[in-house]
Amino acid sequence: MREKTVLITGGAGFIGSHLCDLFLEKGCKVICMDNLITGKIENIAHNLKNKNFEFLEHNVTKYIDIKCGLDYILHFASPASPADYLKYPIQTLKVGSLGTHNALGLAMKKKATFLLASTSEVYGDPLVNPQPESYWGNVNPIGPRGVYDEAKRFAEAMTMAYHRYHKVDTRIVRIFNTYGPRMREHDGRAIPNFISQALKNRPITVYGTGRQTRSFCYISDMVDGIYKLINSGITEPVNIGNPHEMTLLGLARTVIRISGSKSKVIFKELPVDDPKVRCPDISMAKKALKWAPKVALESGLNRTIAYFRSAVR
Ligand code: UDP
Repeated sequence: MREKTVLITGGAGFIGSHLCDLFLEKGCKVICMDNLITGKIENIAHNLKNKNFEFLEHNVTKYIDIKCGLDYILHFASPASPADYLKYPIQTLKVGSLGTHNALGLAMKKKATFLLASTSEVYGDPLVNPQPESYWGNVNPIGPRGVYDEAKRFAEAMTMAYHRYHKVDTRIVRIFNTYGPRMREHDGRAIPNFISQALKNRPITVYGTGRQTRSFCYISDMVDGIYKLINSGITEPVNIGNPHEMTLLGLARTVIRISGSKSKVIFKELPVDDPKVRCPDISMAKKALKWAPKVALESGLNRTIAYFRSAVR
């Protein structure tokens, strides 16, 4: 295969940086773009001397100027943790709207295949469980999470419009909860919070009753699914996530057990509009991409705990 060039926006973030590694392994040239508001240079430090890797510090809500040809654009730039998008509400709206518009315009100019990182948040607080791609969702547009949910819904609409009107070759991946090494200790999401609390034997903060559910996908499964999607011809949105649904209280207890922690669970207020259930229906990914997650929760948690032990102090 001819050497391909890939632009990954948000490439210094958690999922973005793992995608940089994967595309380098596949022999591609990778241009990683990030403004580092939630991404970290440490996530890509090991690639900075690789001649096939280039880092550009840039905010994608501003015009993107790339001189070379591009085969793929993977648009991953966005705050993605509820804590982050509450802290950066306007930036979150802008990167999902203006940033997606710029990235799509660039894809059209370069005749590149464009992949949008969308999210299970497009389903909001779902009234259907598990969620198939055909479900339109139950989103509060004006709630605090609306900045992320609506930005991503707009981004999907914009992607489909560029596909239909400008004939850009597009993909949309709806990413469900994902975890693994390179999540930030203070990212605010359940798994990094629980692991860092457990490793310090501090109370594990479960929000609400802990009966709300999520389904957690290990990072290597996630990037494998994304890679298969970009190489498919599927222009409709595809869910990628792990369908093993569990309660947050169950997750907290699992983290305590496998990390050997002395932490106790404490209960804190449930954030506004926190979805009560979330689980992907992955029938489409299984059938069309021949993809299914392989890493079981305990195995993925062990690898993530090892990362937090070594990288987080
Ligand atoms: N959560 C929790 N304790 C924490 C952080 C999160 O109980 O310290 C809960 C949160 O209320 C939600 C679930 O864990 O029900 C997953 O939250 P996360 O922020 O990881 O992502 P979300 O799925 O809400 O986007």
